[in-house]
Amino acid sequence: MRLGFLGAAGEVTGSCTLVEAAGLRFVVDCGMFQGGSEARGKNQRALNFGCDMRRIDFVLLTHAHIDHSGLLPRLAMLGYRGPVYATPATIDLLHVLLPDSAHIQEKEAEWHLRNRHRRGMDPRAIPVPLYSVEQARAALRLLRPVRYGEILRPVGDVAVRFHDAGHILGSAWLEVSVSNAGQKRRLIFSGDLGQPDRPVLLDPQQPDGEADALLVESTYGDRRHRSLAETEDEIVEVCARTRAAGGNLIVPSFAVGRTQEIITLLAKLVRSRRLPPLKVYVDSPMANVATRITLAHPELLDAEAHELIAWQQAHPELLKLEFIADVERSKQLNAIRSGAVIISASGMCEAGRIKYHLRENLPRRECSILIAGFQAAGTLGRRLVDGARLVRIFGQQVPVRARVVTVGGLSAHADQAALLDWLGGFQRPPRHCFVGHGEASAAAALVTAIQARYDWPEVRATVPGEFVNL
Ligand SMILES: [Zn+2]
Repeated sequence: MRLGFLGAAGEVTGSCTLVEAAGLRFVVDCGMFQGGSEARGKNQRALNFGCDMRRIDFVLLTHAHIDHSGLLPRLAMLGYRGPVYATPATIDLLHVLLPDSAHIQEKEAEWHLRNRHRRGMDPRAIPVPLYSVEQARAALRLLRPVRYGEILRPVGDVAVRFHDAGHILGSAWLEVSVSNAGQKRRLIFSGDLGQPDRPVLLDPQQPDGEADALLVESTYGDRRHRSLAETEDEIVEVCARTRAAGGNLIVPSFAVGRTQEIITLLAKLVRSRRLPPLKVYVDSPMANVATRITLAHPELLDAEAHELIAWQQAHPELLKLEFIADVERSKQLNAIRSGAVIISASGMCEAGRIKYHLRENLPRRECSILIAGFQAAGTLGRRLVDGARLVRIFGQQVPVRARVVTVGGLSAHADQAALLDWLGGFQRPPRHCFVGHGEASAAAALVTAIQARYDWPEVRATVPGEFVNL
């Protein structure tokens, strides 16, 4: 058996593992590299499996995040026509996320083309989209649904089971058994694992038994998250202060997952009377669709989320939610001077309607900006977190007088303690444990922590492009 770590090794994007066993080839995740100037080149060189695409037997997707799924249209463009297995909720999200990813790339290329003279850009340096909206739609036709717990037999000697990973809606960790000449090998792929006890989703299911090879993520392998209780206290404090000052609370938020978590947390805090009645505007077409998809999968939500959804529907006057699709209505929000909570995307303030709300509200001392997600270096969100006094939005200088508050307890990824607890599910030490999907320092810290706690025979970080024979 051979494993190839073709992405998310020493970094957190571009997830892709090639498995060759028993005369078969399959791929786990087909993610896009994101961030940094090298991402484009890496995406163009990615999916280099060393064989004709038609010789890949099947593809398994752990979840819908673009860094795990975003090169699927490219895989199809390169000739892959076989099945791509994913959970039903992942498939629902991909129907929105993949065409959107193509659309963003097309817009970016158009923008560069329009502005190339002003920026003195070499036409050869203008980014070409990795795929078009049409090609993204074509790739969606390869998707095949698999429910959690169901035994899938993609080909004769292989059995696959998807288990809830508690990371985003529909996310899964995978158990793959391959039989060859009377010998059975069990592989576990963690995908991205969620933090237990977070709002909305069920907690990750634990693995059990044993594994010949385990690939585990390490995004926060070197960190411990702040507790949810602290985050709730911070939200209560920032709401009270903004209300007293007579301003608005602006929340830049990822459309999938984070927006639904924040709505749920606000509902919990209003219901328990820690917050007064609120008027919340969700101003992001993508967040509206993601919320609809979330509500369409009640089987994936935890008991508290069910209770809070029912409570909100019974008391719309206490938590007034308005989902805004229309651009004109979105513009009207600019006229609201106080008392509004506006949740909008993108989560890192780089694109989308959030930029308009920031332009209106950042210069006003009485407003607050609540940052509840990771902000990558170089983004507008990061500049705000870092305390910039002046930022550029749509070519204008905008002074930052609003208060910027960062809350740290809402990560979609398990921290080191939660990762170690999850790994505690194995009854026997996995024979090979590979730590991937983390910056080098995070992966190294998790390797050390696993060895200290479990003393497994082989634990090591993955190396990009490396193939290992087992
Ligand atoms: Zn993810």
